[in-house]
Amino acid sequence: MQQAKLLVSAVLGVEPGALLVHTWAEVTDEQIAIIGDLLERRISGEPLQYILGEWSFMGLPFYVDERALIPRQDTELLCETAIQWMKERGYRTALDLCTGSGCIAVSLAKLSNSAVTASDVSADALALAQDNAELNEVSVTFFESDFFQSISGKFDLIVCNPPYLSRDDMGHLQKEVTFEPEIALFGGEDGLDAYRKIAKSYRPFLNDGGVLLLEIGSTQAESAAKLFAGKTSVRTDLSGNPRVLIVEA
Ligand code: GLN
Repeated sequence: MQQAKLLVSAVLGVEPGALLVHTWAEVTDEQIAIIGDLLERRISGEPLQYILGEWSFMGLPFYVDERALIPRQDTELLCETAIQWMKERGYRTALDLCTGSGCIAVSLAKLSNSAVTASDVSADALALAQDNAELNEVSVTFFESDFFQSISGKFDLIVCNPPYLSRDDMGHLQKEVTFEPEIALFGGEDGLDAYRKIAKSYRPFLNDGGVLLLEIGSTQAESAAKLFAGKTSVRTDLSGNPRVLIVEA
């Protein structure tokens, strides 16, 4: 019901709260037809966020579509942790690997006043991320890169929300999640492939005294931490699940 309201208000161009005072006389046949189409898409399982085409993350607006993962509220913890480290340690540079929609990179640029570089293996995702940087009026340097392959330079902070679902997880996806790019979700047989790649190659890209922050699945804290030689700790999300792995250089 709440989602239907959001769709209807998006088509009518009014705030959801204003729907009660909107009389049907003001709604055109064309708008009714569009609302019908959007509701059918939602009923078929397409995520509300893709249908609306825009979603909020860290209080900022982002374009969202099939080119990248929908920004999750869970991921705000990763982003908040990054902003906290940037501020407390006086970090000036950040790299966001696997940026997808660019939600983390753009939020960091907007909210932490640092120079942000972002990369993704998908050129399509990067185009979306670039649009999101423009939407939020920030400047982010984008690279097309498979993890660190085409990255140069060193950073104070590296942040990444990699694909981390296991093959078993992929077999039990919510209908909505099946609309999102598999490349952004599937982390190999046990879900840990991305962490293995990052553990092998991150160190030369991180300044001494810097930090690597990784989003992890709720069951991966121990197995992911074991892959890293540096000092590790874990932050839990609002539901009490391990969500962010912190690796200190
Ligand atoms: N948290 C996402 C989900 O459960 C997965 C995101 C990811 O693999 N980075 O759908």
